Amino acid sequence: MAEKAIIIGAGIGGLMSAMALGHAGFDVTVLDRDPPPPDTSPDDVFENWQHSGVGHVRHSHAFLARLYVLIRDKYPELLDDLLSAGCRILPFENMIPEVSRAGFTPRPSDDNLNILTSRRTTLELIMRRFVERLPHVRIEPGVKVRSLETRRNGAGQITVTGLSGDLADGTKQEWRPDFIVDASGKNAPAMDWLKEAGLEIEEESEPTGILYFTRHYRLRDGQNEPDRGSSPTSGDLGYIKFGIFPADNRRFSVTLAIPEIEMELRKAAVDPAVFDRICLSMPGMAPWVDPDRSEPVSRVFGMGELISRWRHMVKDGQPKVLNYFPVGDCVIRTNPLYGRGCSFAAISAHLLGEALTASSDPAARARLYHESVARELRPFYDSMVSQDQTAIKRARNTLDPDYRPRLKARLLKSFIEDGIVIATRADVNMLRRVMAAFHMMEAPNAWLKEPANFARVLMYWARGKWLNAKYYPANIGPERDRLFATLELSVNADLQRLNAA
Ligand SMILES: Cc1cc2nc3c(=O)[nH]c(=O)nc-3n(C[C@H](O)[C@H](O)[C@H](O)COP(=O)(O)OP(=O)(O)OC[C@H]3O[C@@H](n4cnc5c(N)ncnc54)[C@H](O)[C@@H]3O)c2cc1C
Repeated sequence: MAEKAIIIGAGIGGLMSAMALGHAGFDVTVLDRDPPPPDTSPDDVFENWQHSGVGHVRHSHAFLARLYVLIRDKYPELLDDLLSAGCRILPFENMIPEVSRAGFTPRPSDDNLNILTSRRTTLELIMRRFVERLPHVRIEPGVKVRSLETRRNGAGQITVTGLSGDLADGTKQEWRPDFIVDASGKNAPAMDWLKEAGLEIEEESEPTGILYFTRHYRLRDGQNEPDRGSSPTSGDLGYIKFGIFPADNRRFSVTLAIPEIEMELRKAAVDPAVFDRICLSMPGMAPWVDPDRSEPVSRVFGMGELISRWRHMVKDGQPKVLNYFPVGDCVIRTNPLYGRGCSFAAISAHLLGEALTASSDPAARARLYHESVARELRPFYDSMVSQDQTAIKRARNTLDPDYRPRLKARLLKSFIEDGIVIATRADVNMLRRVMAAFHMMEAPNAWLKEPANFARVLMYWARGKWLNAKYYPANIGPERDRLFATLELSVNADLQRLNAA
């Protein structure tokens, strides 16, 4: 008889786990605290789905190539469903700057560098309908898990033996599955219950240093998305990062990521009028939010307390908890800016499916699972945390008009801006490799460690700005003081506050 699995949470990690475990032959029940999405259209689901279990469900989302390829290769019917519902594939070709587009010859492997995008509510709705059709898998909505039942063994390990919760009608229920998958997201209450049961979970936690602000728009009748011009639709000005997210059914969203220390700007950005003025100040975004082309269809959604976090469930090769497998944000959280959280959740879910199939021993399963997750994902996690630390310092320095970087910092900045950026804008093959790392199709920076690529970057760097002139990106947006003047914000208030603290 098939082993019984309970999955807590029907978000991205829960749905992906249901697919992986369902395909591996387990009998799967997914419990989720929220009501199901309305059985209507993506627009209605976006407007009306009460999905407070995912606080960020109305923030911009895109699936990186690693997840797109996983869906394409393992679940082609799901990909068809997503595309039929209006989800979009943004091809690698879109990433090629105008200046090197003429030399581009498509390759079949470029399909491994595509992004799958739409509103998160649409992605989740279609994934959920797909999961509901899988044999041996069921989703029970409106069920809030309230506690775990645990037993401690002589080796100090905790075995999870069951769970209980409240059904939609308020009645209490207990379940005794063979094992539990926790996909309850970043606030995962079970981690606290396990701590109360005596489990010591080591965790690393780092700030991302940013807040997220998202607004959704609809193209007006008869209007189309703007042509890809010379100004990028995403960029990083140090004091603000921005991006356009093309979505399904003639919608798109804009996300602004503002450093935590930019108090003036972050307070102002929740005002829809200010938000739109910021967008109109960026040449790559202005044609999108031009009132003749599109109209806003939501308020500005804000979100803070964004951290990176890695929870260690195995110590010195010994799993601390048995028959309990956390996936997704519950065990690893990352900065949303990199768009990797859903891919992390999907990869973990499938590694879990493999570990559960490879062994029936609870300890071996836990070891296999957590080791393979660390092997696959840790290099990307470390790289993101390190980039965040650099961005936090940059944001601090941008506040200070008197800041003068040291020689080492100037050289590094020049190597990135005048070497790496130029090489990737001038050479499509180099761009392919950089994007492969970005999409987690290969290890971070593997491309730069290859001597031929490093030499090519050095060549561009060494030959100087005059010869590279045509490869420099167009102006992506105003300097901080100019934008602040447009928005009538104080340029110095944040620095004064920081210095006084
Ligand atoms: C602002 C923002 C933008 C992001 N953008 C991207 C992006 O562009 N691309 C990307 O890949 N990732 C992105 N991410 C990350 C991504 O959204 C998360 O990594 C992903 O949602 C994690 O999935 P999960 O299943 O672990 O948690 P969630 O998707 O949060 O799902 C948790 C589920 O558990 C349920 N639940 C919680 N508690 C209980 C309980 N007690 N009982 C029953 N059910 C419960 C909830 O209702 C919910 O359905 C973003 C994150 C944020 C914050």
